[in-house]
Amino acid sequence: MHNIGIFWFNTDLRVLDNPALMQASQEVDRLICIYCLPPSSPVGRAPNSLSDNRLQFLQESLAELDHSLGQLGQRLKVMYEPALEAIAQLIARHNIDAVYSSSAADYYINESWRLLKQRYSMITFSQTGSCSLINPAQLSFPLDKLPESFSKFRRKVESVEISNPIAAPKSLPQPPAMDRVSEWQSLFPVFSRNPITPFRGGESHGIGHLQRYFSRNLASSYKETRNGLDGMDYSTKFSPWLANGNLSARTIMSALTGYERSIEKNESTYWIYFELLWRDYFYFYALKHGVRLFSFTGIKQNRPSTSFYAERYQKWCQGNTPYPIVNACMHQLNRTGYLSNRGRQLVASCFVHELNLDWRFGASYFEQQLIDYDVASNWGNWQYLAGVGSDPRGHRRFDLIKQTKIYDPSHTFIQKWAGGDCSAVLDSVDAADWPMLDTCAADDI
Ligand SMILES: Cc1cc2nc3c(=O)[nH]c(=O)nc-3n(C[C@H](O)[C@H](O)[C@H](O)COP(=O)(O)OP(=O)(O)OC[C@H]3O[C@@H](n4cnc5c(N)ncnc54)[C@H](O)[C@@H]3O)c2cc1C
Repeated sequence: MHNIGIFWFNTDLRVLDNPALMQASQEVDRLICIYCLPPSSPVGRAPNSLSDNRLQFLQESLAELDHSLGQLGQRLKVMYEPALEAIAQLIARHNIDAVYSSSAADYYINESWRLLKQRYSMITFSQTGSCSLINPAQLSFPLDKLPESFSKFRRKVESVEISNPIAAPKSLPQPPAMDRVSEWQSLFPVFSRNPITPFRGGESHGIGHLQRYFSRNLASSYKETRNGLDGMDYSTKFSPWLANGNLSARTIMSALTGYERSIEKNESTYWIYFELLWRDYFYFYALKHGVRLFSFTGIKQNRPSTSFYAERYQKWCQGNTPYPIVNACMHQLNRTGYLSNRGRQLVASCFVHELNLDWRFGASYFEQQLIDYDVASNWGNWQYLAGVGSDPRGHRRFDLIKQTKIYDPSHTFIQKWAGGDCSAVLDSVDAADWPMLDTCAADDI
């Protein structure tokens, strides 16, 4: 039994199916529950440049977690410092003898954890995995032997039995008397809720969404509809709650198998599991490759032949390119903080192959905007599309005209999200910042 423990929440903002929290609840007399604002990738900007949509979802998730902890006798302490400093401060102030956390894929979170363990060897550090569907201990191979392609990974893990989610602790040890919890809400900007986002952060909203999804039989046709571009029903929309840890992958799997037992089991229901395995693959991929997740060459040796053009980058971010489908997707992303999987593939392919931009800046823009930002899925998918990741084909360029014909044949999506036409000019200046001739008015020449 320990005296005072810290529970460090990161991408597990929930009390249900949180084995690390359960362990802390059983092993300490007093507990301090903390959350530190997320680290940003090396290419990304400071956390305070996160979009309002992402911050709003995060704030809602934290508020609900704080409420749930309150019912168990605890409070959430949100700290603005990086975790390394925040935890060091708490250790200096209290007689901490144990620190708990759920395992994470984030290289910077894991580095902080490693440094803390190294610096405070007299403290017990315990990490438990509950982010992925498959527990790392269930893998039949060491992490450094993770297959280079998803298909090989899937074949190796498909027979692994997925554990059931565990219940929330019945109560939590109280915080130490002298630990003050300040009103953390003031760390966030004041939002008026975005009226067009259907997503609300928090564990109860995640569970509500999960139940509604399976009660409407949408899972039975998921495989046929999953490539849609707009609306709530064509894909599961579990990702925002999964990425923030409001829902665990095992809780989703348990609802999915319940549906298969009581309603229907078919190719579509299998495909939801298949996509969750993609998420697991990128989770283990991020753990295996560490800081290379953010490297220009990815996991390959060759440097992509792309560069950085400030004007093209700005136009892509603002949805003002000569590609209407891309513009529509970017407007949707900027307004709502969410984009379909097909939309993500199209805008990422455009970024790399049409605009010839360095993929890391696209990934970094997604990091700021996406309410379901997940370090492993985001950077892993970008590497894949940029040809520097785990794609055995090595090169994936989407034909934007063909894709528009298939997925938005009557331009309903393009019109709704103001994608415009093909007349936007990509470059108005050349590499030396000199105005391009064909964009100057004739009498200016
Ligand atoms: C360039 C790019 C960046 C991406 N960035 C992220 C990200 O930051 N966070 C994120 O959660 N997903 C990311 N994805 C994966 C995927 O687009 C989203 O998970 C999906 O669109 C979320 O919607 P959904 O929950 O309705 O997915 P569904 O189609 O219903 O899939 C169910 C679940 O499976 C998982 N999943 C599905 N496709 C993928 C995939 N390709 N890779 C990993 N997991 C997957 C997700 O957890 C998803 O919630 C990215 C994809 C691309 C191409």
